[in-house]
Amino acid sequence: MTSNAIKLGIVGVGKIVRDQHLPAVAKDGDFQLAAAASRHGKVDGIPNYPTIEAMLAAEPGLDAVSLCMPPQFRYDAARTALEAKKHVFLEKPPGATVSEVEHLKALADKNGVSLFASWHSRYAPAVEAARAFLTRAKISSAAINWKEDVRRWHPNQEWIWQPGGFGVFDPGINALSIVTHILPAMFITSAVLDFPENRAAPVAAHVVFRTSTGLPVTMELDWLQTGPQSWDIVAETDKGKMVLSGGGSKLAIDGTIVHDEPEAEYPMLYKRFAEIVRAGTSDVDLAPLQHVADAFMLGKRNVVQAFFD
Ligand code: NAP
Repeated sequence: MTSNAIKLGIVGVGKIVRDQHLPAVAKDGDFQLAAAASRHGKVDGIPNYPTIEAMLAAEPGLDAVSLCMPPQFRYDAARTALEAKKHVFLEKPPGATVSEVEHLKALADKNGVSLFASWHSRYAPAVEAARAFLTRAKISSAAINWKEDVRRWHPNQEWIWQPGGFGVFDPGINALSIVTHILPAMFITSAVLDFPENRAAPVAAHVVFRTSTGLPVTMELDWLQTGPQSWDIVAETDKGKMVLSGGGSKLAIDGTIVHDEPEAEYPMLYKRFAEIVRAGTSDVDLAPLQHVADAFMLGKRNVVQAFFD
């Protein structure tokens, strides 16, 4: 750790904090994890508080906070932190609405602190290689297939099925964070969202986009896929068929793997957070969130079979 390490408080101690934030921060010399705030979750070896307000009151030396609770409950915590002049790292999706995150960006600017709307999948190992390939190629069409088993990846997460939890768009927004980085700008032309009759969020979605250059892009999201899981983006191009698979970790052109390395998404997210804090800037790209909002706005709703855990 460097002597000018950024003193970090972490808020909403649950699955993603334990799986990714704690190991990434522990290895990052730019950060010193100084406190945590969560109603039930605790982090060993540092002071723990029940709320962000209690943490900020007791720990005036904190420079930054990472907000890792579900998106519906993030805005108030972010606002409290920004008004206390703390830099803020937002887990994905950065909020439950587009306009609340725009407001947070304005608050960060007003208070002279950095806001980071993190998109972990954008830092998957083969994403930059895919972007470079597509920059040189002429694309004719693209397809996103994001199909996983909600029972395996999101057990007991009630928030994800509630309004603002996004349902299958919670993983789907990871795909959107990649395609908005590697494809030309695009917009939704039609969408069908399948809502289980007992849930307030979709379990599947079929979305059609058109890029600014007129290319068709389809997106299939499915949360009931058992067996092999698919997190793939496919593009047909004049330089061959590109398959970015494994959530952005592996790149193949015409069936030959050209890029495959272990993922380091969260270490890279914290590297980027330190960079913007030191540079006095923010990094807030709302394009993935806007597409989800548009899908809910334009999409036809189908009621499908009830879902039970
Ligand atoms: P989680 O474990 O269900 O929730 C994280 C923590 O948030 C909970 O342990 C809980 O801690 C707190 N929380 C829950 N409801 C709350 C409420 N109503 N008000 C305030 N705090 C509340 O979820 P997660 O999987 O870590 O996901 C959190 C965020 O990270 C989501 O936006 C998700 O999309 C994103 N993410 C998740 C993953 C993943 O693999 N799970 C991957 C990447 C990103 P307390 O009860 O202690 O307050």
